[in-house]
Amino acid sequence: MNEIKTDESFRDHLATVTEEGKRKWIYPKKPSGRFYNARIIVSILLVSFLVIAPFIKVNGHPLLLLDFLNRNFILFSIPFGPYDFHLFALALIALVVFIILFTVVFGRVFCGWACPQTIFMEMVFRKIEYWIEGDFKDQIKLSQAPWTSSKIFKKALKHITFFLIAFFISNIFLAYIIGIDELIKIVTAPPSKHLAGFFSMLVFSAIFYWIFSSFREQVCTLVCPYGRLQGVLLDQDSIVIAYDNIRGEPRGKLKKSEPQTHLGDCIDCHLCVDVCPTGIDIRNGIQLECVNCTACIDACDAVMDKIDRPRGLIRYDSLRGIEKKVKFRFTPRMAGYSTVLVLILSVLSYLLFTRSDFSINILRTPGLLYQKQSENKFSNIYDLNIINKTYNPASIKLNLNNIEGELKLLGNELNLKPQEKRDSKFLLILPKSSITNMNTPITISIYSNDKLLKEVKTSFLGPVSEEGNN
Ligand code: SF4
Ligand code: SF4
Repeated sequence: MNEIKTDESFRDHLATVTEEGKRKWIYPKKPSGRFYNARIIVSILLVSFLVIAPFIKVNGHPLLLLDFLNRNFILFSIPFGPYDFHLFALALIALVVFIILFTVVFGRVFCGWACPQTIFMEMVFRKIEYWIEGDFKDQIKLSQAPWTSSKIFKKALKHITFFLIAFFISNIFLAYIIGIDELIKIVTAPPSKHLAGFFSMLVFSAIFYWIFSSFREQVCTLVCPYGRLQGVLLDQDSIVIAYDNIRGEPRGKLKKSEPQTHLGDCIDCHLCVDVCPTGIDIRNGIQLECVNCTACIDACDAVMDKIDRPRGLIRYDSLRGIEKKVKFRFTPRMAGYSTVLVLILSVLSYLLFTRSDFSINILRTPGLLYQKQSENKFSNIYDLNIINKTYNPASIKLNLNNIEGELKLLGNELNLKPQEKRDSKFLLILPKSSITNMNTPITISIYSNDKLLKEVKTSFLGPVSEEGNN
C-alpha cells in the first residue's frame, strides 16, 4: 500500500479543520502546467455547452429540459414523461453501475475534470479571486491586514462579482428546469408577476454564492456522496493521482553542496501541498479529500524539470502500478461491472428504440358483465387509456376489425393535445349472430390522423349458455 508517512494522524482529522474544530481556510497556490491547461480547455467546452444548451431548439422544441416538478423531461428533443418511469429507473441504474465501473477503473477523474462544482470553483471563482486578490501569499496577507479602503474595495469587488456569477449560474440551471422561454418571461417581466420564479432564482443564487464564496471544498469532502463512496470503490488497481513513494522516499531538502545519494526524488519543497485546493498532502497516500484536480502533478513535474529528474513523481497510476511497476490490468471486478453495464444498456437501448409515440391500453371495464341492448344485441363497456407522447395534436379513431358490430365512444371525441393523457370509455355492441363464444375474440384498430397506431386484441363477454346462439 502507498502508506509512507510515519505520522498517521492525518487520517484522524480533516485538512480543513483545526484541532479546535474550527474551519481552516485554504489558500491554494495558483496552479499551472500541462494538466491545468488541458483542464482549462475541457472546462471551457463543458461550461460553453452548459450555457448554450438551454438556448438550442430542434424544430422549435428544447434540446434539453429537466422539469423535475412536473416530471417532464426532454432529452435531445425527445419528450419523456411520467409514463416513461421504467426508462428513467433503468437509466438511473445504468448510471450508477457506470459510475461504479468508471470509479473502479479511473478513480475520481470525474471530480477533477467534469464535476460542475470543481469546474466552477477552480476555473471560474478561484481565477477571479487570483485576479482580484493575487496569489495565495497575497491572499493570506490581505486577510490578515486591517480593513483599509483597498481591502474593502477588493473584498467588495470579489463578492459582488461572485454574486453576479452565482446569479448567472442559477439562471442557467433554472433554464434547464423551466425552459429558456419561461426563464426569459421571468427575467423580462416585473418580479411581482412571477413571484415564485423570482424567489427561486434568488434562493438558487444565494446558495451558489454561499457555496463558491464560503463553503467551497467542504462540498467535496463533507457533503458529496460520490466522494464518500471512494473508500469502497477504489482498490489497488484503480487509476488515481498518487505519489510514487518508492521513488520519492526518503525525502529530503536538496543541497547542492553535499552528495545526496541516500535520498529519493522528493526534495520536500511542499509545492504539491501548497497548490492543493483541499489542503492535503498527497504524499501521505490516497485520501478522501483528493478531488483529482491534477494541480499537484503539475507542481511536482515543474520541480522535477528544475532538478533534472524525470517527471511523474506524482502521476496517474494505480497503487499496484507504483509498488510493482506493472501496467494497468483489467481485473475480474471490472469485468463483472462491465458485463452488468452492457446488459442494462442493451435492455435500455432496446426499450428506447422500440418506444412508441403513443401508449394505448384497452381493457374491458372490470366488474361488469355484458348488457342487453335489444333482443338481438349485446354490449360490453371498455376502458381506454391513451397517451400522446408527441409534440403534435392527435385525432384518435377506433375501428372494430374482425367482426360485425358497432363501437360507440362514451364522452368527447378523442382529440388529444401534445403529450396529453386521456382516460375514456367506449361501448362495443355486437349482434347476437357475432357472439360465438363466452369470450368472443375481437381486434380493435387505433388510428391517429388516419395513421394506424396499434391493433389491440381483447374479448367480448357474451351470453353464450342461456341467451346466446350456441
Ligand atoms: S512537489 Fe514533488 S518534490 Fe516537492 S514536495 Fe511535492 S512530491 Fe516532493
Ligand atoms: S492531492 Fe493533488 S489532485 Fe488531489 S486535490 Fe490535492 S492537488 Fe488536487
